[in-house]
Amino acid sequence: MDEFQLIHRFFSPLSPRKRGSVRLGVGDDGAVLSPPPGCDLVMATDTVLAGVHFPKDCPPRSIAHRALAVNLSDLAAMAADPLWYTLALSLPSASARWLSAFSKGLELLSGEAGIALVGGDTVCGPLAVTITVVGSVPRGRAVTRRGGRVGDWICVTGPLGRAAAGLSAWQRGQRRGAALVPFLYPHPALEWIPLLRDFAHSALDVSDGLIQDLCHLLEPRSLGAEIDLECLDCEPRDLDGLVQALSGGDDYVLCFTVSPRRWEPLVRRARARHLDCRIIGRIVPGSGIRYRGALADRVRHARIRGYDHFQRPLPRRPHA
Ligand SMILES: [Mg+2]
Repeated sequence: MDEFQLIHRFFSPLSPRKRGSVRLGVGDDGAVLSPPPGCDLVMATDTVLAGVHFPKDCPPRSIAHRALAVNLSDLAAMAADPLWYTLALSLPSASARWLSAFSKGLELLSGEAGIALVGGDTVCGPLAVTITVVGSVPRGRAVTRRGGRVGDWICVTGPLGRAAAGLSAWQRGQRRGAALVPFLYPHPALEWIPLLRDFAHSALDVSDGLIQDLCHLLEPRSLGAEIDLECLDCEPRDLDGLVQALSGGDDYVLCFTVSPRRWEPLVRRARARHLDCRIIGRIVPGSGIRYRGALADRVRHARIRGYDHFQRPLPRRPHA
């Protein structure tokens, strides 16, 4: 199977040749796309690399799902509706079985998210997937990391630390069970897009660990945060569980800030959509993160950090 047969067999079927905003999809030198009128476009790129972002023996369907999910999660955090994506795939060999499962993973999640493949590239090399996504948001309505204000509640849209626990289980040799799902098939919180647009002052997705990511909301504005450890949804409810929830990566829940006086209407809208979120703290003047709760002193001494590609990689569960 050469490169063109591979693209034709596994990826062209995922691309509308011509539909809606796609005037010309995969198969030419470039795609021709029509942005929705009155909208800003939001663009994000993420690469996932074997041995860094996922274990080398991960199922190909999971690799495809994760590569697209982490990008969709960035669009969700900006309150942008998914439109199009491109795929650059580096593969050590062209196995039809592997590619079939990989393209199935893309097909399932892209169908769910309503995003169309419009181009890409395939090369022979170490296993790595780069996806670029483009989404749209009504002009001027993108939610960024920079809008947080002193007094805002800090909220998250799901439990934390589950993906890190799933990765640990995989690394211990577990190959089946619900505990692996948050790591193998993370859920991009696209259902929160309209609510973020209407209520959030600032937002981001938790990819490298809550505390590390939260600092991206706080530091550019010289703001601080107070985190109430009693409010974190984590398992187990001990120091290890808390550290995992605060530092574990890959959860892809959204963390956003909202004015306390807008909390009630937000919860009403969320409940009407069967969505749940919880307040975990608030933005305070000053800098740095303070913890409240029974284990606050011990968490402080754990010196929580997240994942940084250019520092020595830290174990995902520092207390394991
Ligand atoms: Mg992000």
